Amino acid sequence: MLYAQISIGRFWMRVVRESANSSSRPFFSPARGAALHCGRVSLESLARRFSTPLYVYSGDAIMERLRLFQRALSGRKALVCYAVKANSALAILKLLDRGGAGFDIVSGGELERVLAAAPGAAGRAVFSGVGKTAAEIDLALKAGILEFNVESEAELALLARRARKLKVRARFALRVNPDVFADTHPYISTGLREHKFGIDIRRAPAIYRKAAANGWLEAHGVSVHIGSQIRSADPFGAAIERVTKLVRQLRREGIALQVIDAGGGLGIDYHAEFDPGAPAARSSAAGWDAAAKVQEYAAAVEKALGDFEGRLLIEPGRFLVAQAGALLARVLYVKRNGKKTFVITDAAMNDLIRPALYQAHHEIVPVRRRAGRARVVDVVGPVCESGDFFARDRKLVPVAPGDLVALLDAGAYGMAQSSNYNTRPRAAEVLVEGGKARLIRRRETTADLLAPETI
Ligand SMILES: *Cc1c(COP(=O)(O)O)cnc(C)c1O
Repeated sequence: MLYAQISIGRFWMRVVRESANSSSRPFFSPARGAALHCGRVSLESLARRFSTPLYVYSGDAIMERLRLFQRALSGRKALVCYAVKANSALAILKLLDRGGAGFDIVSGGELERVLAAAPGAAGRAVFSGVGKTAAEIDLALKAGILEFNVESEAELALLARRARKLKVRARFALRVNPDVFADTHPYISTGLREHKFGIDIRRAPAIYRKAAANGWLEAHGVSVHIGSQIRSADPFGAAIERVTKLVRQLRREGIALQVIDAGGGLGIDYHAEFDPGAPAARSSAAGWDAAAKVQEYAAAVEKALGDFEGRLLIEPGRFLVAQAGALLARVLYVKRNGKKTFVITDAAMNDLIRPALYQAHHEIVPVRRRAGRARVVDVVGPVCESGDFFARDRKLVPVAPGDLVALLDAGAYGMAQSSNYNTRPRAAEVLVEGGKARLIRRRETTADLLAPETI
């Protein structure tokens, strides 16, 4: 008995220490036939406590990813600015703030989230986005953010007017468009000349020169963001090489930029086969390895920066949080229509829209595996749209009504893009840290949804 307790204790110690193993997702089954866990916490117990659909995140896995970037860039002045739009949960922002991260925001609302979760972080926040309003600019100027990543000449002119009005100097970077092709989904590719983002890099020098004459503007840096879910390091290197060249040219003209912001966009492997074994037992050599990806990315960035001695900012979103999260759903029905079998879950496209929006793939695994042969099924939600699916013609081990399934790699652009379509209250969210789970967002009620309306 004592021996058993010691060995179980050792098992959990190993699990907690290594559940954030960089090679893998933080979800696993502690024994054959046991339910999936996140750290020490069983997903079945979470579903009982908080019901479904439920987002479950591993705080330890998020912190491990942050440290991968911080360690890889420790050779220079660098700041990892988490892209808030990937997952803007206050508890996650607070966690990342404690880890020393800065933030990349794209709206006044996101700035207010950062200030609510991490009041001291304004000086580590950069503001990106093509359509900043005067009110949003004022909010950020008053908060004293690190820099505005400016996406047009008209925006720069508005920034100068607001800075003059508030009597503060505005630090800005031009977000340049390096005309680099990144092989990703067309909806999330942003680095080509014909995209709506950024300023043509060839026009940038003239704009910096003009801004130098305005005392309310401080040319602080240059930024670039070429897209999202980019799996190869090469396009990042190519983009930063062009930016570094621009910085050198401007320095020769007497405009000394202190910051290069390399943007975000490093992708993950959504198709990686799920290994339910304990993270400690998984081999990073066998599968996709986050640490190796970050090394490769950092090496490409370093090489492109050359002798640039200023500060490097990077803005990863997805890479920090995607694999740390799962959407937990319960199977409501299994039905056959013609030749097809549909598994209908209580989660829907309003909870996780990525499959409908980008044809995205999410691995779907039962929380407790049943015996039996895998079948080809569609996994769908209850929303009245044919686009409401999580998987089509997917081979899935048998599931029955009442079973729990986990949609993996749902930590980024999941809850953040959720909606109330079909008057569906949004899911609750749970954060697991050091073996303990806590609710970080309660489930919405229908009353929450009706509250802003009048008849
Ligand atoms: C969306 C976005 C990011 C983050 O992209 P990921 O693919 O989640 O890393 C970073 N910077 C800017 C400007 C963005 O718009």
